[in-house]
Amino acid sequence: MKPRFNRPSPFTAAVAVLVLVLLGSAGTAGACGAFNLVSLDQEWGMRNDLRNQVASQARVVDSSYLNTVGRRIASQTPLGNRRWDFAIVQDKSVNAFNLPGGLVYVNSGLIAEADSLSELAGVLAHEIGHGSARHGTQLMTRAYGYNAIAGLLLGRNPGQGKQIAAQLLGTGIMTNYSRSAELEADRLGVRYTYGAGYDPAGMVGFYGEMLDMRKRQPSKVEQFFSSHPLTETRIQTIQAEASRLPRRSSLTNDTNNFQRFRSQFR
Ligand SMILES: [Zn+2]
Repeated sequence: MKPRFNRPSPFTAAVAVLVLVLLGSAGTAGACGAFNLVSLDQEWGMRNDLRNQVASQARVVDSSYLNTVGRRIASQTPLGNRRWDFAIVQDKSVNAFNLPGGLVYVNSGLIAEADSLSELAGVLAHEIGHGSARHGTQLMTRAYGYNAIAGLLLGRNPGQGKQIAAQLLGTGIMTNYSRSAELEADRLGVRYTYGAGYDPAGMVGFYGEMLDMRKRQPSKVEQFFSSHPLTETRIQTIQAEASRLPRRSSLTNDTNNFQRFRSQFR
């Protein structure tokens, strides 16, 4: 899934246009695939600019519950020793997204639609999968090219970090995850939920509900589907992935704590 805010401020839009013009004139190297110019330390160094930018464009609420569940899943990744933050965006539409530097946002509308803890865990794990596979900085590398990223990371233009953060959110550079990136995030997500002790069937259940909701309330899941080419085939792939894992009786499907947490958003 991806960040999407309905009304970027005029300032954000202006900055975004400026950055595009500057980058266009610098000339961009056409990187593709998994090519990534951003080191992990650099990526985690961007998180403050990104968090501030999201907070300036959306109603963000911190949640210790979401952080507890999210960090338990993130600890299963190769980047589990880095800081991950999970926050709620007050928005009734169903969506969630990952940004570079271990940032995951979930709309309140998605929490309301998740029937069980394992469904929420599945969504979080998918976003964590994007993060641990570093899809965000791969897209940045592709969008900005070598010259711009190198200039930014060498600190030639200290203000550019904020500008890039604005552009990532304002104009939707992060909206172009490829189909293979989505599948990779699913596959990793299944493994991470299982490792964290949540039932990986939750991801399948949630995606199934999304397909149903598209028939009943299409506008509510429009954002979700615009970034997720979600199909029966994709769900079957996840199911197959989950069925290959050894049986484990102790997997959590739901808890009273989750239902209490969710009731705040219904
Ligand atoms: Zn995704």
